[in-house]
Amino acid sequence: MLLKAFLRSFLLMTIIAVFMGLGTLALFHSFIGGFILAYVIQVLGGYVWNTYLERKEHNFAQTISNEIDSQIGKLTTPLELSCAYCNIVNKIQFALGDTTHFKCVSCNQPNKIYVQFTTVRITSPITTNLETGEVDMDQEPKEDNMRQTTINEPISVTSEAPPAKV
Ligand SMILES: [Zn+2]
Repeated sequence: MLLKAFLRSFLLMTIIAVFMGLGTLALFHSFIGGFILAYVIQVLGGYVWNTYLERKEHNFAQTISNEIDSQIGKLTTPLELSCAYCNIVNKIQFALGDTTHFKCVSCNQPNKIYVQFTTVRITSPITTNLETGEVDMDQEPKEDNMRQTTINEPISVTSEAPPAKV
């Protein structure tokens, strides 16, 4: 497909060069001068045109990219956060990667927003007895740092090594 397009433009360039060569042959008695000149002009013109198209395409892609970044920055989530000083609830519009602080509407103190991601189980714990369906919390796997957390009993992070296996 690419070869076909190349051959077609090569043929077209040659036809134009032949006509230009015939033109210079009639005017200046030189076929090859006009023929070569036509080729040079077409190759240079093609290069300039392609460069222009590439730049235009690049600028368009850049504009789209900037627009997407801008729109993502505008996406906000309404949050109700308690002030770290007076505990009064503040309603803020939170934008990920943009909103990091807010000033309390009550005490006017600056609060920093601390975002934390955590996990909760959505299926039965690994230690569930498949026959009774009961969960033995004492049998939670402790070795190899494999721990299961619950939303009711958050784990406490310690720097100590996990207890040795008995
Ligand atoms: Zn406050």
